[in-house]
Amino acid sequence: QEGHIWGSMKRTVLILGSGLLLFVAFWNSVTWHLQRFWGASGYFWQAQWERLLSAFEGTEWFLFIMGAALVPGLCFWGLNASLLVVDTTGKPAFISRYRIQLGKNEPVDPVKLCQCLPTVLFNQTIISIPMLLLSYPFFKWRGEPCGRQLPTFHWFLVELAVFTLVEEVLFYYSHRLLHHPALYKKIHKKHHEWTAPIGVISTYAHPIEHVVSASNMLPVMAGPLVMGSHLSSITVWLSLALIITTISHCGYHLPFLPSPEFHDYHHLKFNQCYGVLGVLDHLHGTDTMFKQTKAYERHVLLLGFTPLSESIPDPPKKMD
Ligand SMILES: [Zn+2]
Ligand SMILES: [Zn+2]
Repeated sequence: QEGHIWGSMKRTVLILGSGLLLFVAFWNSVTWHLQRFWGASGYFWQAQWERLLSAFEGTEWFLFIMGAALVPGLCFWGLNASLLVVDTTGKPAFISRYRIQLGKNEPVDPVKLCQCLPTVLFNQTIISIPMLLLSYPFFKWRGEPCGRQLPTFHWFLVELAVFTLVEEVLFYYSHRLLHHPALYKKIHKKHHEWTAPIGVISTYAHPIEHVVSASNMLPVMAGPLVMGSHLSSITVWLSLALIITTISHCGYHLPFLPSPEFHDYHHLKFNQCYGVLGVLDHLHGTDTMFKQTKAYERHVLLLGFTPLSESIPDPPKKMD
């Protein structure tokens, strides 16, 4: 068993490493053109950033909190407020057609929802903000988060690739560890109270899980820390991460958005689909059950308006 895990970990490192090299080589050629296009608007953002810097001179830590907590938080709540309207009212009705687990949360139980909101808010403020403040000296040690010069678009894309890989590795292994019987009951069970998740549930977790494994603290902050990233990269990345984790919990497979089938299936079955991208689940064989389901067939980017539950329906007799 142990030999098997080590073997697949080695393969994982090899595949992720060569994937990263290929990706960087590809982007080097593409982004040269993009950077030229970016040029003009790049000057605009540079000017805005310099204005912010002079306004907050001496209190850069405050700027850091705004960029790392406030902006991503507003993205999160903007999206989740709209999703909550759909979850609680079932309107607009056309969105309900895209529901993954049919008949669940139609509408969402208001008592259950109200019980989870204090934890969500507690994690995002009382836990996240002090953690970010504590991490600020480390960011300053690694780089210049509030440096005058904004990163180039080109560099930002390279960073994004690294952040994504670091998140996949840290999230997968920490999440799998949280499923160990010794930790599951005390910590991770809370997040799994929702077998049919909704958007806000993405940050509904035990505080320890929120720091170590939830996709808003350690796994997402480690990449920027390793790269010594600029605050602008951190802000965009954290906002993206919170939007994507909301989508993967939202319970609707909507057109032109990343497929949430993978993590939705994790909430349904508990012992499948631990990662974000699914690369590590493939290598560790923790998606074998998932691959035999209709959910797996539906796990694609929906490029039309016909809900996947209609174009790829469940078999008449439900299999467990
Ligand atoms: Zn989840
Ligand atoms: Zn889990």
